[in-house]
Amino acid sequence: MIQIDDVVVSLDVLREKFICNLDACKGECCIEGDAGAPVEKEEVAKLEAVLPVVWDELSHEAQAVINKQGVVYNDEDGDIVTSIVNGKDCVFTCYDERGYCYCAIEKAYREGKVDFYKPVSCHLYPIRVGNYGPYKAVNYHRWSVCQAAVLLGKKENVPVYKFLKEPLIRKFGEVWYEELENVAEELKQQNVI
Ligand code: SF4
Repeated sequence: MIQIDDVVVSLDVLREKFICNLDACKGECCIEGDAGAPVEKEEVAKLEAVLPVVWDELSHEAQAVINKQGVVYNDEDGDIVTSIVNGKDCVFTCYDERGYCYCAIEKAYREGKVDFYKPVSCHLYPIRVGNYGPYKAVNYHRWSVCQAAVLLGKKENVPVYKFLKEPLIRKFGEVWYEELENVAEELKQQNVI
């Protein structure tokens, strides 16, 4: 573990290799798992604000779930997560003509229709951020559906923290990320990672 400000980062984030490989996984992270994606409190209003823009893209099942319980719910641990359909698919999941999953919010963002990209937890995956009192913990989450991403990351030699540079800066800021890069470089020279 290393620590930068109030953020503790597991060495796996610096050591393990990862590049999403959509051709292999078809974006399964949007639909697999038994709970929605973690949502920060201030992101709930943002999800509600983009809802009218993406509404027509969503499946009828997703629309029914949202009409009943809204865009989020509290999971077993009491955390706020995106609502899901059939106990697993995020309500914002859509499918393209190849059958790949995509996020309706991200698509609307790329088309310039909304200014919210998607929840930062989705942007950061396979990094998960935990809150422990005054500290935050940044961990690499291993999941079999991302196996091809690990292979591609190894082939291209891209560590998790580099692949996720943009969302890490979104979450913790440029200065923090620069410090992370410096620490990673030092640890590499010391053969720790
Ligand atoms: S996080 Fe995993 S499942 Fe999601 S797009 Fe990347 S490789 Fe695919």
